[in-house]
Amino acid sequence: MIAVQKTISFIQDTFNTKEFIPLHEPRFQGNEKKYLNNTIDSTFVSSVGAYVDKFEAMMQEITTTEKAVAVVNGTSGIQVALRLVGVNKGDEVLTQALTFVATANAIAYNAAKPVFIDVDRDTMGLSPKALNDFLDEFGELREDGCYNKKTGNKIAACLPMHTFGFPVRIDEIVKICTNWKIPVVEDAAESLGSEFKGKSTGSFGKVGVFSFNGNKIVTCGGGGAIVSNNIELGEKAKYLTTTAKKPHSYEYYHDELGYNYRMPNLNAALACAQLENLQSFIKNKRELAENYAYFFKDQDIRFRTEMPNTTANYWLMCVELENKKQRDLFLKETNDAGVMTRPIWQLMYKLPIYRDCFKDGQENAEFLEDRIVNIPSSVR
Ligand SMILES: *Cc1c(COP(=O)(O)O)cnc(C)c1O
Repeated sequence: MIAVQKTISFIQDTFNTKEFIPLHEPRFQGNEKKYLNNTIDSTFVSSVGAYVDKFEAMMQEITTTEKAVAVVNGTSGIQVALRLVGVNKGDEVLTQALTFVATANAIAYNAAKPVFIDVDRDTMGLSPKALNDFLDEFGELREDGCYNKKTGNKIAACLPMHTFGFPVRIDEIVKICTNWKIPVVEDAAESLGSEFKGKSTGSFGKVGVFSFNGNKIVTCGGGGAIVSNNIELGEKAKYLTTTAKKPHSYEYYHDELGYNYRMPNLNAALACAQLENLQSFIKNKRELAENYAYFFKDQDIRFRTEMPNTTANYWLMCVELENKKQRDLFLKETNDAGVMTRPIWQLMYKLPIYRDCFKDGQENAEFLEDRIVNIPSSVR
């Protein structure tokens, strides 16, 4: 038998309460109220303002990228990022089925098709080996990029995701995609502050995207950021998310279909205050992860820790149960006791909208889907 009751007591002691313990709740301990008041006093509460500029500068510094663009949420950021790297109607985008639905939706919003490649068991993110196998079988290099020789469609991008803040094998993925002339967009929505070989996630691909939704490590209510080392692409991101308006002091002229995806200054104010605390949040979460790792050390419930050469932000922590039955038992007992736990997402091709998409063997994704459960991970 797995020791669920012991686990419940440990989590209650760790969070020092017998009341309901959520999976992840925000913490506002810094300049949040001050900065919000400043925006109201300044009247600049909407799509332009000093905090938007400050937020973009902070994101450039944190991710060591040349250009960061504030957007209204992570999903719209990924949608625009895909368009930036040239994804068009009918194209294919290689991604993982083990992800939050926004990853696949951002592909579909571009009228492109997700192609589901398996993940690695250890990283829970896109597998370089599975990616290689797929491209060896279906890829065809042409002058203007990579095509799927079976469907005839262009393979216009690859969109790996850093699951729960654990970095994916991004260097291998970028290497493979470079050989096949496929641009990489990183869905780094969950991995702000996570590093792969000492470098920020989101800075490896042509474009990276972060989310500041209420449940993420740092929140601004709702928000996102597109980052790139290519200044031209970054500027194009700003332009596309600002209704594709040609800069002019009074004329309205829009020379392509743009979006109103700007982050309001009000949200940017909150984001700036939160980003000031990012490092202390990560430190606090890493301590919690250490406690969990020690507690689960000799148990049948395996606590997931970061891979060598990576630093995880430990956004959402998770355990791996032995099988689906044990998982279901764990989920029921913890939730009944007011300790919130949640299974990893259902695989994208099991959702009606993505049922007909191509998928490879998916052995690892199926394995993880049955076993991974998130446990309370808030900053204490
Ligand atoms: C949160 C999240 C998003 C979307 O971000 P929003 O800001 O909620 O739109 C995208 N992908 C993944 C993997 C996420 O976890």
